[in-house]
Amino acid sequence: MNNVLANRTMEERSDVNLYAELGNIYHLLEKEVTQLNPGCNRCGTCCNFSTFDHVLYASSIEINFITKNTAVPDFNVEDNVCPFLKDNQCSIREFRTLGCRIFYCNPLYKEVLCEMYEKYYHMIKELSFKYNVQWRYLPFLDHMACWKSIS
Ligand code: SF4
Ligand code: SF4
Repeated sequence: MNNVLANRTMEERSDVNLYAELGNIYHLLEKEVTQLNPGCNRCGTCCNFSTFDHVLYASSIEINFITKNTAVPDFNVEDNVCPFLKDNQCSIREFRTLGCRIFYCNPLYKEVLCEMYEKYYHMIKELSFKYNVQWRYLPFLDHMACWKSIS
């Protein structure tokens, strides 16, 4: 095996481990959120960010996880609507970001969910350092638009 192939294989192995660990973090979060049960009827309204005056942020690791596993539709940042929202449903639930997983419109849970967000945000950040992935934390739509422009 030549060096290029060997390096690529190492990179692929590292990616597999990285995304397995990210999946575990999401799984832990899902368990905590299920126990908390803030309630959601999956109406999809909060994925139209203007509706809640909400800015969804995401890290490079999460953007990479999405772009490696899904087709990113064309979209206009100015619309301020997630491009993955289809018929008011998330079309990439398995790959959605931490912010998507932790946002609930019920104001009673705002404080506890913010604390939970901090905890998982730091876990993902540590993963970024562990796997030497550049840490960039930007509004989701800007991040996606940037990725689109260079892909
Ligand atoms: S969190 Fe609220 S707005 Fe968002 S999908 Fe659930 S019920 Fe709808
Ligand atoms: S990825 Fe899915 S859950 Fe997250 S904002 Fe987009 S449509 Fe909503």
